[in-house]
Parts: sequence; C-alpha cells; structure tokens
Amino acid sequence: MCDKLTQRLIASGSVVTLMIPPIARRFVAGESTATALEQTRRMNAEGVKVILNLLGEHYENRTAAAADTEGYVQLIEDIAASPLDACISIKPSQLGLDIGAEVFRDNLRTIVAAADANNVFVWCDMEDHTTTEPTLSTVAQLAERYPWTVGQCLQSNLRRTADDLERVVDLPMKIRLVKGAYDEPESVAYTEKEAVNDRYKTDLEVLFESRDRGVAVGSHDPEMIDAAVDYHESYGSDFEFQLLMGVREDRQRELASEGYEVWQYAPYGDQWLSYFWRRLKERRENALFALRAVAGI
Ligand code: FAD
Repeated sequence: MCDKLTQRLIASGSVVTLMIPPIARRFVAGESTATALEQTRRMNAEGVKVILNLLGEHYENRTAAAADTEGYVQLIEDIAASPLDACISIKPSQLGLDIGAEVFRDNLRTIVAAADANNVFVWCDMEDHTTTEPTLSTVAQLAERYPWTVGQCLQSNLRRTADDLERVVDLPMKIRLVKGAYDEPESVAYTEKEAVNDRYKTDLEVLFESRDRGVAVGSHDPEMIDAAVDYHESYGSDFEFQLLMGVREDRQRELASEGYEVWQYAPYGDQWLSYFWRRLKERRENALFALRAVAGI
C-alpha cells in the first residue's frame, strides 16, 4: 500500500525535495553526483566496483524521463572522465516506460549510445511483472546493436523467467539474476520463499552452464553465494557478485579480497523514499536497523 502512496507522491513531484535522513544514508550514496562518485572512490579503494543508480521511477511525463536520461548521459561522461571503476543501472519507468514503450526505448537508446562511446556499461533493472516484456525486448534489441554494453536483471520469482533465460542466454549482454523485490500475484510468480530459492539456484545453474561470461549474481544470501562459487568451479564461467550498498558490506569486501569480482549497487539522488521503503520491507534486519536509528540505540 505504501508503495502505491510513494509512487503517487513521486509522480506528483511531492517527494523530490525531501532531504535524505540519516537512517536512509546507509542505503543511499547521497543526493548528488559528487557524493555518489565519492562513494565509488571509497569502495574502489577496497577492491569493490560500483553500479550507480540515479534514483527515480514511475514518471508520468516525458520531461521528467528526459531529465533523468540527460542526468545519466552526464553521469556516463563523469565516470569516463574519472579513474573510477563504475557503471550505471537505470529503471525502465524512470525512462518513461509508464508513458509508452517507445519513450523508454528512445531514452534508453540515447543512454546506451553515450555509454558505448565512453566505454561505460549500462544495466537495466527489472520492475514488476507488467513491465517484463517491453523491458526485455528493448534491451535484447540494444544488445544486438551494442554488444556487451548492456545487461538486464531477471527475477527468479517470476514463472516466466526460465523461458526468458532461454531467450537471452546467447545474446551479447550480461544477465543479473535476482530473487525479485516486487509483490507479485501467485498467477505469475512463485510466492513461497523456498520455491523462490529453489528457482534461483536452478536459474543460476542454467546461466553458468550455458554461458562462459556475463553472469551476475545479485544476492546477499550465503546459500546463493556458495552455489555461485560451486557452479563456477563446475562450469568455469566468468561471473561477478552484485550486492546492495548498506547490505552485508563486510561480505562485499571479503569476497573482493578473496579475488572475486564484486560490484556494489549504490543508488543516489533525492528520490530515495520508495527505494528505502523496499529495502525495509525486504528484511527484518533492515527494519530493525531503521528502528534502532530512530530510537538512538
Ligand atoms: P534474501 O532472500 O532477502 O535473504 C536471504 C539471506 O541473505 C538471509 O537469510 C541472510 O542470511 C542474507 N541477508 C539478506 N539481507 C541481509 C541483510 N540486510 N543483512 C544480513 N543478511 C542478509 N530486485 C528486482 O526486482 N529488480 C531489480 O532490478 C533488482 N536489482 C538488484 C540489484 C542488486 C545488485 C541486488 C543485490 C538486488 C537487486 N534486487 C532487484 C533485489 C532482489 O530481488 C532481492 O529483493 C534482494 O536482493 C533480497 O534477496 P537476497 O537474495 O539478497 O536475500
């Protein structure tokens, strides 16, 4: 319910001026490009690369989507002009998918062309199941035109993902596998935790078995991290771990020091509210952390 409320607030522009409170700062790399690049510098110094996401979603007008498209092009140029190990991740509804698939496609093409020219990688997050088809087909087309410049997130909780994997597994793009962060109906998704975990391991093995590069493991779950290491040993594919800023950061550093490629997904910007809310809902530890911060203990 709160997701719907925050979506409405975001669409109406009511939250854009809220300052990030200290409790959200654990998960959000500040409000400006400067603070995001500073977070990148800090993590790079510890061997962890950074995926930067300019926060924004569910825009209902072209101006907002165009402004974030321009923001990403600028960010790509800033990354390219720096010595930092960073790439970007966008959200489809931030580039106008709720307005129309062609708005999303045109904006994403602008970003990917700039990224290709500057040698910066572009990830596309996956939102709820109603967006899967237009998102995946747009990114798959761009992958053919700009090989190994784009990557797509796929969610193991969705029933369709086994088929989607078959569709994209031979394309020149990276694939980030996650469990899925959106509340989905039983008709399209596995909703039991155990079923999602089983699907995740099966999908991950398919990725390792069928590709020799471009596999990204987007999970904090020790069981999934161990499974990835096992599949790597069995199939030899190149892969990377991806974890969120503020979640198991010690493990991120540890994996990097063990020689694995580790990327931290670090969102930044003033539209932090719905992202922060998703993190709190996802996990009791995150909610307890927020409560402790508020209570000052
Ligand atoms: P969970 O199933 O939440 O937890 C399993 C175990 O992991 C826990 O029992 C615990 O041992 C450990 N763990 C998890 N969180 C914590 C914590 N805070 N502290 C300590 N231990 C913890 N979802 C989307 O729908 N679309 C996207 O585009 C998307 N992009 C993502 C990008 C990245 C880089 C990552 C890491 C996640 C992304 N997600 C995305 C979110 C994802 O779908 C899950 O909701 C989220 O990662 C939680 O699932 P999990 O596999 O990490 O572990």
